[in-house]
Amino acid sequence: MTLYIVATPIGNLDDITLRAIETLKKVDLIAAEDTRHSGLLLQHFGIKAKLFALHDHNEQDRAQQLIDKLKSGLSIALISDAGTPLINDPGYHLVKACRENDIKVVPIPGACAAIAALCVAGLPSDKFSYEGFLPAKAKARQDYLTSLIDQTHTMIFYESTHRLIDTLQDMQTIFGADRQVVLAKELTKTWETIVSYPVSELIQWLQTDTARQKGEFVLIVEGKAKTDNEIDAKAISTLKLLLKSLPLKQAAALTAEIYGLKKNQLYQLGLTFEKTN
Ligand code: SAM
Repeated sequence: MTLYIVATPIGNLDDITLRAIETLKKVDLIAAEDTRHSGLLLQHFGIKAKLFALHDHNEQDRAQQLIDKLKSGLSIALISDAGTPLINDPGYHLVKACRENDIKVVPIPGACAAIAALCVAGLPSDKFSYEGFLPAKAKARQDYLTSLIDQTHTMIFYESTHRLIDTLQDMQTIFGADRQVVLAKELTKTWETIVSYPVSELIQWLQTDTARQKGEFVLIVEGKAKTDNEIDAKAISTLKLLLKSLPLKQAAALTAEIYGLKKNQLYQLGLTFEKTN
């Protein structure tokens, strides 16, 4: 009784993994979002398997049926229409229920549009947040983007053709016209396009040719730039600590070296501490 979470391609069928094929061939049942769509994928790889529909709207009810099947000894694979299940796709309730029932869950990793786009974006990838789809209603979308205004790490969004321009216009208003955005379109498919522009120029680029607005999109958005005169709290407390036993010039130099900041900036900050003491 094992549940396998199996990633499938996001466009190019050659991106299926050997383990995915092997797993899909051996399981007793494949739970899929759209059984007709997945039927075609399985047919392409010569996989004959029983399919079981698991959609977002019926997942909680259907999950219990799958738990019963797993408990009876069946092995099951979960796939979604494309990419990694649970990433903006069904599966969370099922995996949670498996964990609660001590049923083994095994990942079979593979394609994921968010990660594929991030790796080619040329924006910092050491820290990032996956934001998925923004709310459809303008006010909720603007409120959510406003809550991200101070994020300094890279942000990943999924977006659909018909909301792309509205979303970018909201980003322009809230994050500023110069914020860099990488648009990754139709990844792994024939019309794969990856462009990087300040958000205002990206909107112009899309409006120049409406065909550019069609397809599947990931938006990778640069985080807020740390301004030169922004010194984080840790650097400030280090400077204060060093000042207890060192002259300001030395304390500022050491803090600058530790945090990669400008010596003079810390020196000026230290002077303000001395004035207030
Ligand atoms: N589970 C999928 C994954 O692992 O990426 C995501 C499923 S979500 C319902 C579908 C959205 O993912 C699309 O609207 C688009 O934003 C993004 N997406 C999926 N395939 C893509 C592709 N080939 N190129 C660009 N974006 C893609």
